[in-house]
Amino acid sequence: MSTPTISDPSPSIWVAADAIDRARPRSRQRQLGASDTACERRAAYKLHGWEPTDVVISPAAMLGTYIHEGLTTAARREFGWLVEKKVADAAVRGSVDIVQLDQVTARQLPRRMRPKVPAEQNTVEDIKTRTTYRWDETVRYGATAPELRQVMTYARLLNTEGFEDADGQRVLARLGPIRVEKIRLRFICRDNGEEFIQEIPYDAEIAEEAVWWLQRVSETEHPEQAHRDFLGPGIDAVCDYCPFATACWGASANGRPVQSNIVHNRADVAEQLADYVAAHRQWSEADRKKKFVRKAVDAAEEGRYGPNVLGWAGEDKTEQKPDVRAMIELFDTLGASIPTVPDADRMVRALMVAGIAVPMRNVVKRAPRRIDVRVARE
Ligand code: SF4
Repeated sequence: MSTPTISDPSPSIWVAADAIDRARPRSRQRQLGASDTACERRAAYKLHGWEPTDVVISPAAMLGTYIHEGLTTAARREFGWLVEKKVADAAVRGSVDIVQLDQVTARQLPRRMRPKVPAEQNTVEDIKTRTTYRWDETVRYGATAPELRQVMTYARLLNTEGFEDADGQRVLARLGPIRVEKIRLRFICRDNGEEFIQEIPYDAEIAEEAVWWLQRVSETEHPEQAHRDFLGPGIDAVCDYCPFATACWGASANGRPVQSNIVHNRADVAEQLADYVAAHRQWSEADRKKKFVRKAVDAAEEGRYGPNVLGWAGEDKTEQKPDVRAMIELFDTLGASIPTVPDADRMVRALMVAGIAVPMRNVVKRAPRRIDVRVARE
């Protein structure tokens, strides 16, 4: 039998995956893409041509890319759907995951480009991956505001411009603008493959809001004029993996969180505390309501009630713990010495009863700093 030898550990395969990801055309784009409509500040860094300040490897995002590629390839081969098609106007560009054409539109294309089953209405589909951690929230609330802006932008570009006149899709471009009426968001759980489909009509208002959003970013002269849509590293995961995180928040100094870099004077502190108090008020109202509901449904059995499922956690459980009395008897039987721990409380009491001063020493208590905000009194 061969003996295992200790050698240099194998490099992480995510290093290779990251190198491939960085070489993708979209990673080098300067023009804003529809998928950049999540954080104004981040979009502004990109638009103003800033070099990324942070090297981020996000295995979760790369897994999402792989799942995308696999699923869109399968949809193209099996369903004949149009996948990864380019759309653009002067302000924004994007690559639409899937377009499922209706029969009337599909008839204008060569037979090989028609869907096997046409859609009832021209449909734009966007595939999103999620962890189980965010799955409940996804099924309950569907797409987020930035996700809706992104997919409505694709639909608007198809409605107004049609497919971009680019290599590999000239035939599609000749269709001209196509009327998209339906949006399909397909969510895939990265952990177990579960699928959830949200279908909604095209919403011109959200599409216009996205135009306005992009316009605001393009009007900035410097990225710092753009609004931060997230609360920074350690709070919002999007910031943990943002290539401009250091440009946006600065570097951590003296072990303090980077968010502290944006508070410079008393007025800034006052503004933050006002936000804290407002947020606390909302939180305490919500907490009261949750406590009430917890009491109100106390007698209800686990199970489905309307759109929600009730479960009970934290009931009494039996767990194994060392039996100290039995152990003492066992040690005694074995003739082993029983470990003893000095009982400080008992010793203090004994010294006090004997009228002897209790010797003291200074001990630094380490505890996380907690914020305490109260109303100021005159
Ligand atoms: S760190 Fe967060 S707030 Fe700043 S640009 Fe990136 S995503 Fe936006």
